[in-house]
Amino acid sequence: MQPEIPKKRGQLRDTFILLFIVISCVPILVLGTVSLYSISNTHKKNVSELEKQTLIVSEEIINAFFNEIIDTISTKFDSLDQSNLQGSDVNWQQIYAEKFLQSNSAFSQISFVSNEGKEVAKYSKFSKSGILLNVSDSAMFKSAILGKVTISDVHSTLRGQTVTVTAPLFVDGKIFNVVIAEVSLTPLISSIEKVRLQNKGYILLFDKNGTLISSKNNSSNTQHKYISWSRLSTTLQGASLDALSPDDVYVSPVTSLPVVGSTRLIPDINWVIFVEWPLSESGLLVENFRHTILISIFISIVAVLIVASYFAYRLVRPIRLLQNATKEIERGNFENNVVITTNNELEELGDSFNTMATGLKRLEELKNEFVYVAAHELRAPVTAIKGYMELIFDGSGGSITPEMEHLLSPVRKSNDRLVNLVNDLLKVARSEAGKLEIEISPADIRKEITAIIDESRPLALKRNVTINYTPQEDLPLAMINIGSFKEVIMNFISNAIKYGNDNGIINITHEVTDGMLSTSVSDNGRGISEEDLGHLFQKFFRAPDVKSTEIEGTGLGLFITKELIEKMGGTLSVTSKIGEGTSFKVSFKIAKGPIILANSAN
Ligand code: ADP
Repeated sequence: MQPEIPKKRGQLRDTFILLFIVISCVPILVLGTVSLYSISNTHKKNVSELEKQTLIVSEEIINAFFNEIIDTISTKFDSLDQSNLQGSDVNWQQIYAEKFLQSNSAFSQISFVSNEGKEVAKYSKFSKSGILLNVSDSAMFKSAILGKVTISDVHSTLRGQTVTVTAPLFVDGKIFNVVIAEVSLTPLISSIEKVRLQNKGYILLFDKNGTLISSKNNSSNTQHKYISWSRLSTTLQGASLDALSPDDVYVSPVTSLPVVGSTRLIPDINWVIFVEWPLSESGLLVENFRHTILISIFISIVAVLIVASYFAYRLVRPIRLLQNATKEIERGNFENNVVITTNNELEELGDSFNTMATGLKRLEELKNEFVYVAAHELRAPVTAIKGYMELIFDGSGGSITPEMEHLLSPVRKSNDRLVNLVNDLLKVARSEAGKLEIEISPADIRKEITAIIDESRPLALKRNVTINYTPQEDLPLAMINIGSFKEVIMNFISNAIKYGNDNGIINITHEVTDGMLSTSVSDNGRGISEEDLGHLFQKFFRAPDVKSTEIEGTGLGLFITKELIEKMGGTLSVTSKIGEGTSFKVSFKIAKGPIILANSAN
């Protein structure tokens, strides 16, 4: 018996698909990852560059604002001459203060301070007069009297954030007075707020104390000191941040938005400009790219999978066809031609396989012919020996002595076995040559079964086997060939006795279903393993555990039985469990209408 080939379904196909996927997808994935990496790197640099440009623009706006303030003061005073200053009836401070206030809306108050530190005149945009103070102790005055322009820290007033600009007033190259100007930052803030990075990027402005000067529509924040914020303190120490480091992506404490930000210090006034670009906009471009790349990778992988599956199918299908054809040949069917049209080596292999199958078929035919001729030639002599043996044992040639009987009995037994074997071989050869012709007609199988049981009685008695059979009264007629049917049932019963236990029980029952009349022959004998069940109807098959016993047999009975049943248009099934018993079930069509004659020969 051939060992069962373990099933390895789909392995070649899976390996091929896997290989295809690895070869195709690895470059796709590497390319995708590299693209993603370089795109996000380039994007980072672009963001940094855009933010830098925005910071430069903001710085220019701030510088321009203060330059204009300082220029205004300087230009106007340069045009004064000594005569103007001497004329006691001319209030020159008022004239010039009004000019300043009109020339730049940021001026809210102008004071003129004598070189001794006493305010000599004060003009406000909003109130007529003010108390004149002595500012000789103020650091800004001291600095101005030494010739320096000073811009104070930001302070909040009722009219918004303000700085004080203190500048010396030069006349003829000498410091003549000091001018103290209160400058509102409101125009500067509104200019800064107009600076935008695309739609959502905005500017934040802090003074050196961490006071928020300009803020994105959030005036309450302006009172807040942000000096402890590390980004601000780092920038105040001179380090500009450029949106390239991972720390430059953060949640803004001012707007609570996730942003990518850069900073810049304005050295002269020690203010810090922040540009913050919400990720919802700054990341949009790279996010779109990422999506496009991921979708492309996904589509590529799906396409690779489809293509790989198609090629795997094309590769594996011919192999499967060859595999199935091999199984058919194993079952003795040589007619199945393999059709492979791949136009390559596989097609050649298919053609070679077909040639091999034709050769095997010819061999099988030769073998059958040989078996048929040999069995045919053997039948005459062994049948003659059988006849003469019967005559000898009948006493036709005179009485035989016990010694002669002792010597001749084994000869008779062996010859009987030989006759059975030769008859079986002839049937097999006939069946395989298509010469087995069987006619079927309606018959009452109860009568035939009862006759077979009677014939089997002596064999059953030897092993004390009980055969239970109660013929049902209303059983329909079945379409069978009586001789073949008897041979089939006889084989089942004799096997049930042979492979059953001493004192065993054989049950014969009927069943009528779907136009078929079934007969089951069940025993409680040794049973057949699941593996052996698959080979039960093959020629010369005998279960390994049976071969090692003294039970005689050729392994042809069930093969012939199956052939006979099929020729009669019936079906056969078997169920068995080792140690519990076996049940053979044979079903034939129930007879109806006129008598049908079937000739299955081809
Ligand atoms: P033979 O009986 O001549 O060996 P068969 O074709 O009738 O040949 O049976 C083939 C094999 O099937 C037997 O050798 C035996 O191993 C197994 N077999 C058949 N019938 C039974 C049964 N009723 N119980 C157990 N094994 C059986």
